[in-house]
Amino acid sequence: MYRTHTCGELRLANCGQNVTLAGWVQKSRKLGGMTFIDLRDRYGITQLVVEADAPAELVDTATSLGREFVIQAKGEVVERQSKNPKMATGDIEIKLDAITILNKSAVPPFTIEDNSDGGEDLRAKYRYLDLRRNPLREALMLRHKIAHEVRNFLDSKGFMEIETPYLIKSTPEGARDFVVPSRMNPGQFYALPQSPQTFKQLLMVAGYDRYFQIVRCFRDEDLRADRQPEFTQIDCEMSFVEQEDVLNTFEEMMRTLFKNVIGVEIANPIPRMSWFDAMDKYGSDKPDIRFGMTIHELTAVAKGKGFGVLDGAAYIGAIAVPGAAEYTRKQIDELTEWVKRPQVGAKGLIYIKVNQDGSFKSSIDKFYSPEDLEKIAAAAEASKGDLILIMSGDNCRKVQTMLGVLRLEMGNRLGLRNPKEFAPLWIVDFPLLEWDDETQRFYAMHHPFTAPKPEHEKYFYSDKKEDLEKVCANAYDFVLNGSELGGGSIRIHNADVQKRMFEVLGIGPEEAEYKFGFIINAFRFGAPPHGGLAFGFDRVCALFGGSDSIRDYIAFPKNNQGRDVMIDSPSEIDQIQLDELQIDIRKKVEE
Ligand code: ASP
Repeated sequence: MYRTHTCGELRLANCGQNVTLAGWVQKSRKLGGMTFIDLRDRYGITQLVVEADAPAELVDTATSLGREFVIQAKGEVVERQSKNPKMATGDIEIKLDAITILNKSAVPPFTIEDNSDGGEDLRAKYRYLDLRRNPLREALMLRHKIAHEVRNFLDSKGFMEIETPYLIKSTPEGARDFVVPSRMNPGQFYALPQSPQTFKQLLMVAGYDRYFQIVRCFRDEDLRADRQPEFTQIDCEMSFVEQEDVLNTFEEMMRTLFKNVIGVEIANPIPRMSWFDAMDKYGSDKPDIRFGMTIHELTAVAKGKGFGVLDGAAYIGAIAVPGAAEYTRKQIDELTEWVKRPQVGAKGLIYIKVNQDGSFKSSIDKFYSPEDLEKIAAAAEASKGDLILIMSGDNCRKVQTMLGVLRLEMGNRLGLRNPKEFAPLWIVDFPLLEWDDETQRFYAMHHPFTAPKPEHEKYFYSDKKEDLEKVCANAYDFVLNGSELGGGSIRIHNADVQKRMFEVLGIGPEEAEYKFGFIINAFRFGAPPHGGLAFGFDRVCALFGGSDSIRDYIAFPKNNQGRDVMIDSPSEIDQIQLDELQIDIRKKVEE
């Protein structure tokens, strides 16, 4: 037997017992002839001690131990002279009578401690060493616990966990596919699933009316800070349900997770907001509702005073920043530069200070009388001491989005986004379609399997762009503190409606048949009404862990270039493999 206990287990009550531990040497030090060793495994750290008068061989072995050596240590549990209340095992130590070195270790490239000195890249290259550190171990433990809670909850509600294949045909979720060449079918490729969307719908057709899976998804996107090319979803689908049933089920799941994992009671019921309200008031489809500072439209009240920029705008909107009327010229200039950054994309920023004495000071004093400014301030619902920030433009949604970004920034600057507060929200009533000016076509806002609201079907069959823009869907997103944690919809379950959807998306009948014939065909064989959703599991973990970075919650993540620097992937493959696959690589001509 390698060990009788783990390194996190022994307490005062164990004193007098002879035990065997196994683990990694965190560090060892000599003190007045005695050798102290901190032995670590994933359960904790236990202090080992070799007395000055121990047999010379034992003392020699103890002093020869390097960091991260793997050892087995035998001895008696004794009470410590100087206790360490910060350690769970801090009341005891093990007085050793034997040490066996199970394996030596090279000197680790960084120290395995909570605050490691290794840089990001170095730690990524030696991820298996980084994973020995407490913060990452705790992150993975949390992930495990959440997965366990999810399974318990869904099992208690009658959901079956069913695996779906990874080598499939493209499932469009708005990103590029990762593809895998097929050796047995030269010239043909599998796609890795962007989500199990079509398969879970086929499971509904098959009668498995409550399905879930904690499943890997793959999306070949340009990576933003918090994205991974492969990530995990809690993917769910239900039959014979309406939107209300889905929302209620998963609201309960989220409430249970919050309570059981981090002991937090979230809102019950979780508030709901239409996509239109979210855009109008927060300039975002994932509003952070921990604070107000909502957007107000000023188009009617601010136009017609001879100020060209506003007179020519199709939409004018503003936020009133509480207590910011005291901003100096310099601060306002800095803010103006901030909104001009490409990430925000505004042309400029107009301000009105509502002074404590009720007077106004603005960047548009030349065109607007105090009475005009008062009307604007009323429309912006500004109070004394507020700073009104105004933006305008031709496209209402674009201006609102910019104001939304500014709102979040001001929320950050004013400390209104308390990480200890959790403000969940359902966004509902999404438009079904989104027009893209560049390609002059509609895209599915959620995905092409989302059903139009039955009451909007008349618009759905219209050929007019204005009508199609009016079609909404029973689609929903679960939003928390300004990030989207999940989303789903009630699906199309009728072959003709599905065909019409592809037609609206500019996918011709042949292409639709080639790519999605299997699902259209399945809908001919008794497809039940169904709907579902998926949560971003990595993001849920990061959120519960109080972190912004999902990478810490994934055992082996990729870096910002989509690379796994530990195994050095992606990498070139052998000519033999390429030949078997009948693939020629076009080499870029070196300049
Ligand atoms: N498949 C969707 C997604 O990955 C979720 C859903 O509609 O259930 O976002």
